[in-house]
Amino acid sequence: MPQPKAISLISGGLDSMLATKVVLDQGVHVEGINFFTGFCVEGHTHAIRKRDQKKEKRNNALWTAEQLGIKLHIVDVIDEYKDVLLNPKHGYGANLNPCQDCKTFMIRKALEWIQKNDFDFIITGEVVGQRPMSQRKDLMPVIARESGANDLLLRPLCAKNLPATLPEREGWVRREELLDFSGRNRKPQMALAAQYGFTDYASPAGGCCFLTDENYAKKVVDMWQHRPSRDYELDDIMLLKVGRHIRPRPNFKLIVGREEGENKFMEGYRRQFISLHTTSHNGPLVLLDGKDISDEDLQLAARIVARFGQGRDAESVTVQAMMPAGETKDITITPIPAAEIEQDWYV
Ligand code: SF4
Repeated sequence: MPQPKAISLISGGLDSMLATKVVLDQGVHVEGINFFTGFCVEGHTHAIRKRDQKKEKRNNALWTAEQLGIKLHIVDVIDEYKDVLLNPKHGYGANLNPCQDCKTFMIRKALEWIQKNDFDFIITGEVVGQRPMSQRKDLMPVIARESGANDLLLRPLCAKNLPATLPEREGWVRREELLDFSGRNRKPQMALAAQYGFTDYASPAGGCCFLTDENYAKKVVDMWQHRPSRDYELDDIMLLKVGRHIRPRPNFKLIVGREEGENKFMEGYRRQFISLHTTSHNGPLVLLDGKDISDEDLQLAARIVARFGQGRDAESVTVQAMMPAGETKDITITPIPAAEIEQDWYV
């Protein structure tokens, strides 16, 4: 048999890194694949927010591939992923994370990839019982079956707890050198990382994407509730990662930059949204996301914008509103008193 070839799902976290290494060390040719859904945590907030600028702005999937010395394929699945998020057959986890359907989708995409590129099998870093939703023992065969990968799917970190897969039966990998990790205890992974000399690795607390984040999920739900359909574009979900989101009226919300890095990032959206900032005082950049905006809406928006600037206690503040086409309008108002900003306006 020529050298077997495997594709490994690389999230940027430790488990996929270890799983890949275990198989690489058995002489298999391994390449990595990373799916970009638009919700990935990867670097975005660190890259945008000034206060996080000391943190390394690396793409952890690329960095993992570099550590392992393998090629990485980054695949844009933004459009296809919409159906996974909008109609998950197995529902959501604690927030808006459709983990089981997401895993199945990614493994199905990896299967398509190996069929097209003439590779032999798929590797994931899943561990039996590690995550309540997508890594339960009874779900492992369901994910393998529903993705269509069946026994072309090898989970090296827990393979000994599962029936032998084709790569094991065919001798492409030696089952006895695979692992039997299970449960939530991360110590075995950390010990294996130390054995391999991996000291610097990402450890996402809640999961690998923003959909596990409660505040982010609330913003997604708010967006869906105030639009005619739940469809979304990449820009929509990117903007949910920045700023304070305030919805004073059902027909519009304001995205208020919280600091310089976010203001800069949001400047890139001034041709898509009405944008507002105070000209008489320093203040944040604010994007207005809405429709059928009346003069009264604009006045209210300006009063809120003024509240977040240095003129918050002034009698009179001038706010400039810029339309997406570039025309501007100066609005002089009194900032809205803090007490009048209703708590339920904050998304
Ligand atoms: S945390 Fe996000 S990316 Fe990871 S399996 Fe769940 S839904 Fe998919």
